[in-house]
Amino acid sequence: MRGSRILSTAFARPNLTALTSSSPTPSQVSRHIRSAASGLPRTTQKHAPTAQFSSAARRTGSLNTCNRRESRKYGTKSGRNEAPPFAFAFDIDGVLLHVATPIPGAPEALKFLNEHNIPFILLTNGGGKHETERVKDLSQKLGIELTTDNFVQSHTPFRQLVEGPDSLREKTILVTGANAEKCRLIAEAYGFKNVVTPADILKAHPEVFPFEPLLDTVYTATARPLPKPIFTPGSGMRLSDALKIDAMFVFNDPRDWAYDIQLIVDLLLSQEGYVGTYSPKNGDSALPSCGWQQDGQPPLYFSNADLLWSTGFHIPRFGQGAFQAAVAGVWRRLTNGHELQRRVIGKPYSETYHFAERVLATHRHDVLTSLGHHEPGTLKSVYMVGDNPESDIAGANDFKSDAGTEWSSVLVRTGVWRPELAGEKALQGRFKPKVIVDDAREAVRWALKREGWKGPAL
Ligand SMILES: [Mg+2]
Repeated sequence: MRGSRILSTAFARPNLTALTSSSPTPSQVSRHIRSAASGLPRTTQKHAPTAQFSSAARRTGSLNTCNRRESRKYGTKSGRNEAPPFAFAFDIDGVLLHVATPIPGAPEALKFLNEHNIPFILLTNGGGKHETERVKDLSQKLGIELTTDNFVQSHTPFRQLVEGPDSLREKTILVTGANAEKCRLIAEAYGFKNVVTPADILKAHPEVFPFEPLLDTVYTATARPLPKPIFTPGSGMRLSDALKIDAMFVFNDPRDWAYDIQLIVDLLLSQEGYVGTYSPKNGDSALPSCGWQQDGQPPLYFSNADLLWSTGFHIPRFGQGAFQAAVAGVWRRLTNGHELQRRVIGKPYSETYHFAERVLATHRHDVLTSLGHHEPGTLKSVYMVGDNPESDIAGANDFKSDAGTEWSSVLVRTGVWRPELAGEKALQGRFKPKVIVDDAREAVRWALKREGWKGPAL
């Protein structure tokens, strides 16, 4: 059954200690992402109004003290006017939207939270656009004002990798995705200085992919000159003069799988990431992992592990996880069964939840202090509302909050999970949500009741 396949295809977590390249190790990067997330970059002006704040301002006119008081409508069991100790995290595809169409009840739920100053973030495994562009697009589709302050998409944590002692800012990285040129522009906006795309390499050396590329017109239109030439054996070229890739990033779902897999595997087999080389350590049984990925090859990052996702079509479609499975499958065949060492962020991986919790804490603090709550207090509960047991639900269930916040998983019936295909009995262990509800609006209603909400009904 398709449904059971959805639930049975979680990828093994990457071995975080086995990759021993001279580039930043995965554990270093993991630490880096988590530590850097504590000082989150602000993509809007520090004192710019948040979505909740600005929407409250429009409703109540100028935000004098009286209006601020009136805008606080949170009610507790005790009846005191306290800051809400709970918040929400919403997935987007299959929860708020089906591609471009709002799912009934979802815009109303977000508007309700805005009106009552209950903080939320959008936490999506989607990507491919810069956060600013994506938030603008979402605001139009949902008919509600959103900001980048409470928005985390799959590749947002990558921007942390330009900071710190292991910074990749000045290094050369390869990026690919649905539109690799757009991914390059996003990476450059994050601060990466030297970004190469598959188009650049193909334009300079068409022989790397001896077939007619599917995306030839795109490649031709977007290719930039390589910062250094590709190493050619016998040419007298010194290795240090050749193009070296220090990290590879899959920003979102690639289109030209054949070429992208070829290029990624070339680099996984290379000597220290020099394009056009082949490591002498490959297959050496005297070395750990028979020498595979033991010669300073660039780490490979995926931003999203979702095998399937919900679209306008009635059967779920392949996501980036399918591409990852293809790369890993080719790698196993080439290496006689060795597991591909790679880094995966996005839901359900904890790095993304740690990052999201930091974003939510900062956002909540800004919202509530702007409304006069000088000490917003502890965030006790976060309700993760999602449609995918493998990502949204498993991630929330697995997550161990640094702040002691309880993350509760809420599964909706509007997305990729279909009870008629998978059945509720298939939701076992880490895939089992705290509750299953019809849609996002029902999810908020359930959480409000659980929190003892005394305000107006949604
Ligand atoms: Mg989804």
